[in-house]
Amino acid sequence: MIKENNFNFKGVWAKYSDYEIIKSNDEFYVRATKKSKITTFDIYNVNKKLLVDFLLIGRETLKYTNERDIECNLMSTEEKYQKMVLDFVKKYGLLGDLSYPLLNSNIISSGEVYLQGYSEVNKISANNYIKPFFIEDENIKNIDFNNGINENILKYVYSTDLPIELSNKPEEMNLIFSKAYTEKISRILFYSKQLYKIFEYTENSITEKNEDKKAIYKKFASEFVPNNIAFMFDLNDDKVALNWQFSSLKQAMEVLLGFNESNDRKELKMCKHCGKPFIAKNIKAEYDTISCRNIANVYKNREKNK
Ligand SMILES: [Zn+2]
Repeated sequence: MIKENNFNFKGVWAKYSDYEIIKSNDEFYVRATKKSKITTFDIYNVNKKLLVDFLLIGRETLKYTNERDIECNLMSTEEKYQKMVLDFVKKYGLLGDLSYPLLNSNIISSGEVYLQGYSEVNKISANNYIKPFFIEDENIKNIDFNNGINENILKYVYSTDLPIELSNKPEEMNLIFSKAYTEKISRILFYSKQLYKIFEYTENSITEKNEDKKAIYKKFASEFVPNNIAFMFDLNDDKVALNWQFSSLKQAMEVLLGFNESNDRKELKMCKHCGKPFIAKNIKAEYDTISCRNIANVYKNREKNK
């Protein structure tokens, strides 16, 4: 019998060497710095670490606020949370929020954007959709995105030094990997919380003993539908690799989380005591630290002695 190894898998994402926080109308955003340089990395090489780092932000966000989005706006004014987001973005780049919800591709060529509404599809002009992702950019006001590609888009938005690995990606990538592209900190915080909740529900639906609670966790976990996914074969180096054409770092994290949760031998776990995500060194590990294990054991012994 063949014991299979992991399949050859790759997926390219890009980040700049440095990012900064900018303030505009009392909202905070992240943007690459003027002098930074773009580099690419393979999502598969960072996979579990990427998720742990992002889920840790989600766990902190969930501690601060549960349902209300408005509190993510408040959080985004605090240096502590700004730094958490900035550290993450410096390691992995921005989330690609612009392309994540799109129903159509080539939004610049077509000048139109289609988004899924609650029960209907909404159409927005490319100008109205794209410009809010270019906060505090001098040139963006004067650029027209509604009538196909033009000189100003090429000059002021597209990056001249986009790595070759990104050249076959959809045209939206030119927007996401533009140096002037920004993402709002409160939205990143809100999304981190959503993803952590999915992680928590899924983990709890496995470990929870109470059947009623288990059913609720299962219901929430099953509502998780990762964004549409595309793979293609990559036939370089005399072997076949699965080249994943993901549209955003958001989509990538959702799929990586799905792979992790469905794995019988998962590496990324949630500490049974404190809820922190961690990379387990062995398959039986249940706690992220010795102190969490000790505290949990004390509780267990108390229960026994009652
Ligand atoms: Zn712990």
